Amino acid sequence: MPAECVTVAIFRQPTPYTGSKLALGALMETQRVCLVIEDNDDIRGLITVVLTRAGFDVRAVATGADGIAAAADPSVALITLDLGLPDMDGHVVARAIRALSTAPLLFLTARSEQDDHLAGMASGAAAYVTKPFHPQELREVALRLCPATAPATTDQASQQA
Ligand code: CA
Repeated sequence: MPAECVTVAIFRQPTPYTGSKLALGALMETQRVCLVIEDNDDIRGLITVVLTRAGFDVRAVATGADGIAAAADPSVALITLDLGLPDMDGHVVARAIRALSTAPLLFLTARSEQDDHLAGMASGAAAYVTKPFHPQELREVALRLCPATAPATTDQASQQA
């Protein structure tokens, strides 16, 4: 099935396939950029697929250092941050990003303890999703933090899809 081939390709690419982005951008006037910081390849691929389907232009990186560098781009409208990164403590990454960007920060973490939740809020998290998460939960939280700004063109896009 061609659809399955496309899905597999997206999962194996850290960055979204850019060929279709031009066509999608023409339909959706203001595609919001979402920076995804996640070291696990499978989870990064899943987040990328979910948020791309939710209308975001996803930029995915695997380390805290790359995430901080990418967060300096003012076009970033939403950031998802895995707290368990190999190179830096997630809360340190969060505070560094907070100094660079006003984009809402969505924490994604396997840790579910209340202490981590409170520490996350202290680090500037706008929302918190605990792994394993349902794709619909991630989609809803992302769209609540960063709603689509052009509903008319979004409707047009979905009618053509
Ligand atoms: Ca991780």
